[in-house]
Amino acid sequence: MTRTVLRVCTLCEATCGLRLTVDGDRVVSVEGDPDDPLSRGFLCAKGAAIGEVHCDPDRLRAPVRRTGDGRFEPISWDDALDLAAERIEATRERYGRDAVGVYYGNPTVYDHGATLWVSALLDTLGTRNRFGPNSQDINPRLAASHYLYGDSWAIPVPDVDRTAYFLCIGANPVVSNGSLLTAPGLRRRLRSLRERGGMLVVVDPRRSETAAMADRYLAIRPGADAALLLAMLQVLSQRSLLDRRVLDQSASGWRELATHLDRFAPERVAHFCGIEARDIEQVAVEFARAERAVAYGRMGVSAGHFATLATWAIDALNVATGRLGCVGGAMFPRPAIDLTRLLKLAGAAGHGRWASRVRGLPETVGDLPAAAMAEEIETPGEGRIRTLLTCLGNPVLSVPDGRRLARALEKLDFMVSVDLYVNETTRHADLILPPSWHLTHDRCDLVFPLFSVRNVVRWSPPVFVPREGELADWQILRALTERLGGGLAGVRPVDA
Ligand code: SF4
Repeated sequence: MTRTVLRVCTLCEATCGLRLTVDGDRVVSVEGDPDDPLSRGFLCAKGAAIGEVHCDPDRLRAPVRRTGDGRFEPISWDDALDLAAERIEATRERYGRDAVGVYYGNPTVYDHGATLWVSALLDTLGTRNRFGPNSQDINPRLAASHYLYGDSWAIPVPDVDRTAYFLCIGANPVVSNGSLLTAPGLRRRLRSLRERGGMLVVVDPRRSETAAMADRYLAIRPGADAALLLAMLQVLSQRSLLDRRVLDQSASGWRELATHLDRFAPERVAHFCGIEARDIEQVAVEFARAERAVAYGRMGVSAGHFATLATWAIDALNVATGRLGCVGGAMFPRPAIDLTRLLKLAGAAGHGRWASRVRGLPETVGDLPAAAMAEEIETPGEGRIRTLLTCLGNPVLSVPDGRRLARALEKLDFMVSVDLYVNETTRHADLILPPSWHLTHDRCDLVFPLFSVRNVVRWSPPVFVPREGELADWQILRALTERLGGGLAGVRPVDA
């Protein structure tokens, strides 16, 4: 006997609504939910396979600990959680709080319980050696928002459904399905932009799948995004095409910025950008004259040279042309649940309040760059990481120089991982605590409404009952937090 369950997909930021057909303990088919207010029936190949994780025979179903000969053997939940807490506590007592490092991965933000309890655990540990996925892609965005708006999580989202001119820089949303832009089915949305007479302009060193759809494609040299954007501002300043009302009444710092712009005149940066000066001028003027326009940049901007400056310059262009906070421009979503308050309470906002021990790299929203993990484990001295907790992340695969990190993990005194699988990272752990798969717990939109093109909040029921002995990710994080003397009520800013 089959049944149908509506469920939000937890496999990427698009968070599409799914319609699952379930038979007993198996998902037999997955369709996009045509009634979902955000995704309206969109489904990708990854989402179509969401049920396979539930029945995957390779997924761990119970805790395991590493034996002397490198194999893993079963251990009970109580013993595993006690062991993890004891080793973390012992490290803290002997070497101090920073001797415990934490890496948390993206899946912690797809489940409201995991999001809340990973914050509580981080707060309880109080370590400055905490790392997450942000430094792989969005730190420049978070830093730019911190300096521009005084709030790292104030992230303007392009109103793709109502804009008339979409300037897309270093992003390939047709393939990525959006990053810091929760707008499922972007190919369809961009087609509709063009059908209503709008323009799609793509700036990218590579003629990407999104560039292939564009009305205009500018093949910029890598690392030149900031120069291009400042050149556009120079053109608009020279031609008096800026929104003076916004600059005079709602913004500060324009005069100072304007004094630097002549150095970025199109003819001066054209060679550096690899774009003709007249093309820079044309795009700048089109952008300013469009009835509605928005500039948006992602991975290519965030991972390139001058990334924070380029991200800041994207917003400066939106602000100076009166596109910030306007329909069809760059808008701030209004989530039903104000997660930013919790993030601030947990110290997960700000930039440069402290730095990494070895290279002096600045923190962003409370995390050090994950590229510093290996050296923080390897380098002797006070504050060296001796014990590491990884939580729903695979940094050996996702951070720069994963091979070095893999070698460093073998030098730890103790490592515990919360993860569904033995993978490139967790195979180095002394203890693995596997959560049940998402389909066994309910889920509420918590993080992605911060980046969503429409204001929605959705709740999904559990699809399956957990098997006996299975714990959800939030239950594991809660058990560990409470064994370490913390709890949700204790969330407070990390001392700077
Ligand atoms: S695009 Fe939609 S269906 Fe595909 S993985 Fe992302 S959320 Fe799931």
